[in-house]
Amino acid sequence: VPAWGAGYFHVNEAGHVAVRPQGLGGPSIDLFEVVSRLRRQGIHPPLLVRFQDLLRTRVVQLNRAFRRAIAEVGYANVYQGVYPIKVNQLREVVEEILEAGQPFSFGLECGSKPELLAALPYLERDDMLLICNGCKDRAMMQLILAGQGLGKRVIPVLERMEEFALLLEVLHDRLLPRASTPVIFGVRLRLSTTGAGLWAESGGETSKFGLSLSELLGLLDRVADTRSGLSLQLLHFHLGSQIASLTHIREAVTEAARIYARLRQRGFSITYLDIGGGLGVTYEAGNPHAPGSIDYTLEEYARAVVSTLRRVCDEEGVPPPVIISESGRALTAYHSVFVTEVLGMRSKPRAALLKIPRNGTLPAELKALWQLVETLPSTAPLEAYRHAQALRETINQHFREGRLSLEQKAFAEQLYWMASSRIQTCLAEQGTFSFELPEPLQQLTLELADHYLCNFSVFRSLIDHWAIGQHFPIMPIHRLNEPPTRQGILVDLTCDSDGQVSNFVTPFGQKHTLELHPLRPNEPYYLGFFLMGAYQDIMGDQHNLFGRVTEAHVYADEDEPGNFYLELVLPGATVQEQLAQVQYYPNDLERRMNRLIQEKVRTGAVRPREGVEVLELYRQIFRGSTYLEA
Ligand code: PLP
Repeated sequence: VPAWGAGYFHVNEAGHVAVRPQGLGGPSIDLFEVVSRLRRQGIHPPLLVRFQDLLRTRVVQLNRAFRRAIAEVGYANVYQGVYPIKVNQLREVVEEILEAGQPFSFGLECGSKPELLAALPYLERDDMLLICNGCKDRAMMQLILAGQGLGKRVIPVLERMEEFALLLEVLHDRLLPRASTPVIFGVRLRLSTTGAGLWAESGGETSKFGLSLSELLGLLDRVADTRSGLSLQLLHFHLGSQIASLTHIREAVTEAARIYARLRQRGFSITYLDIGGGLGVTYEAGNPHAPGSIDYTLEEYARAVVSTLRRVCDEEGVPPPVIISESGRALTAYHSVFVTEVLGMRSKPRAALLKIPRNGTLPAELKALWQLVETLPSTAPLEAYRHAQALRETINQHFREGRLSLEQKAFAEQLYWMASSRIQTCLAEQGTFSFELPEPLQQLTLELADHYLCNFSVFRSLIDHWAIGQHFPIMPIHRLNEPPTRQGILVDLTCDSDGQVSNFVTPFGQKHTLELHPLRPNEPYYLGFFLMGAYQDIMGDQHNLFGRVTEAHVYADEDEPGNFYLELVLPGATVQEQLAQVQYYPNDLERRMNRLIQEKVRTGAVRPREGVEVLELYRQIFRGSTYLEA
C-alpha cells in the first residue's frame, strides 16, 4: 500500500483500508465504514466512492510543486495549469478542481465540442485559461473566438494545418470582433521526442496530431504581419499519458523550448509554453520495470520542467514563457475508489469427489495419471506438470474417439486437478513466488486459481485493464489483519471471457492471482479497485448493457477528524436508462410482453393473476440497477 498509495491510503488497526484525503498527517476515513454506512442506507456495491477532498489536495500539491520549483530555480515567469476535462468530465469533479485551483488561476482544457460547451461557462475570471485542443469545425472555432470576444482567454490550439485555414475564415466573420486586440491562437507541435510505455504513440513524429516544423514555418509567414489580425501566443505538445521517465520529459521540454526560443528570437511574442499531460502516478506498487511505472515524483517533475526551461531560455537569451501543463491523471486518479462485492467463489476440486470407477480395470492413460499423483511430490514440479498436461491431452483425445466412459473422463479430470494442486503445494513449500516461476508453472497457478465472481463489469469500470492491459492496485478493503489464504482471479458479470482480472501488481513483479480471503456465509466481502479516478469512470463501455455505477461523494468532517459525511449519492444507471441507449422503451416492451402473456392466458396455460404477477416483475426490473442485487 505505501508503494502505490502515495500517503493517501493505509490499513488501519481494524484491518480496513483507510483514506487520508489530505495526505500523510491528515485525518483518515475508514473506507469499509463508508461502504457500511451506504449499505445501511440501502445503497449497495458496485459503488464508486469519490473522496472530493483528495481532488483538492492534488490540485494544491501540483500548483505548490510548480511554485516551489519556480522559486528554487529562480524562474522569471509563472505556472498556470489547466485541467483536461476528458480525464473525468463529471461536473462535481470539474467544479471541485476549479474551486481548489482558484488561488492559482487554474483553468481548463477541452478536446471536443461538448467539452467546449461544458467548460466555457466556467471561465468566471478573465485570467483563467481555456485551452481548446482536438479537431475543430466552424461552429467550434466560432465559439472559441466569441469567447475571446467576451474577454476570456480561450485559446484554440491548431492540431492540423487545415485548422489554420478555418481560423482565417472564421476570423473575418467573428461574432464579437474586438478591434483593438488580435485573435490569439496556439499550435500543437509534432516533436521528435517520444515517450515510452502504453501511451507513447501520442507523441513523436508519427503522432496523430500536431504540426510539423515545416508546417509551422509556413504558417508563421502568414501571421508575421501584424495586419493579419492573428497572434501566435502558445506552443503546445503532448507526449502521451503516464510518461515513464523524467528523461523523456526533459528531452521533450528541451526540444519545445528551443522552438519557443527561436521563434521569440524571430520576433514572435509567444507567451505560453503548454507541456500537455503525461504527469504519471504509481499504479505498479513500486515495481520500476512494470510497463505503467514512473521513475519520478510530482516535485521532481515540476523541477525538471522548470529547470530545463530556464536553462534553454538562458542559453538562447529569451524571456521564459508562462508554463502551462494539462495534467489530468495526476489530479484525478487517486480520488476515486471502485468498490465491488464478491458474489461467490468457485474453486477447482483438490481432492477426489468421485469414487475410483470399480467396473473393469482403469485404462492405461488414467493409471499413468493416478501414478503421477501418487509420486508427487518426489517428481520435479515442472516435469510433473508437463507430464500431467500430456496425459490430460491423451485422455481428452481418447474421450473424443469414444474410448472412455463419462465416469472415466470425470475421474481423469479430478486426477488432473489433484496432480496440479499437489504440484502447487510443492512450489509453495519451496517458498517460490509465482512471478519467479517459469511461464508454464505460472499458467498452473492461473489454472488453479479460485474464481471470485464480482458484481461489476470490467468493460464498464476497468476499461484500460481490458483495452491496454493496464494494472491497478486491487485488494480487499477489510479483513486485512487476517492472512489471505486463497489465490484468486476476479471474474465479472459479463458474458465475455475477457471480463476478468488476472494480472495483478506486487512490489516484485506481475502476478496472475491475487491473495484473497475465503468467503464467510452471510457476510459481505468487498474488494477495492484503487486509482480509478482518471479515464476509467468516463471511458467505460456498455457491454451487456451494464451501466454507470452508483457514486458516493465523501467529504472529511472538519469538526470531527476521522469522521466523514456523504455529500451526494448519484444513483447508477437503471435498466430502463441502459435500454433506452439502444432504442428500447418500457411502454413498447411492456405492451409486447403483455401480448405474449395474454396469448397464454387465452389458451388457459397461464391464469390471469399469474399473468399479472409476471408483468409486474418485468416492470419492476426496469427501474432497478443493471447489476445484481446481492
Ligand atoms: N492533454 C492532451 C492533449 C491529452 O491528449 C491528454 C490525454 O492523454 C491530456 C492532456 C491528459 O494527460 P494526462 O492524463 O496524462 O495528464
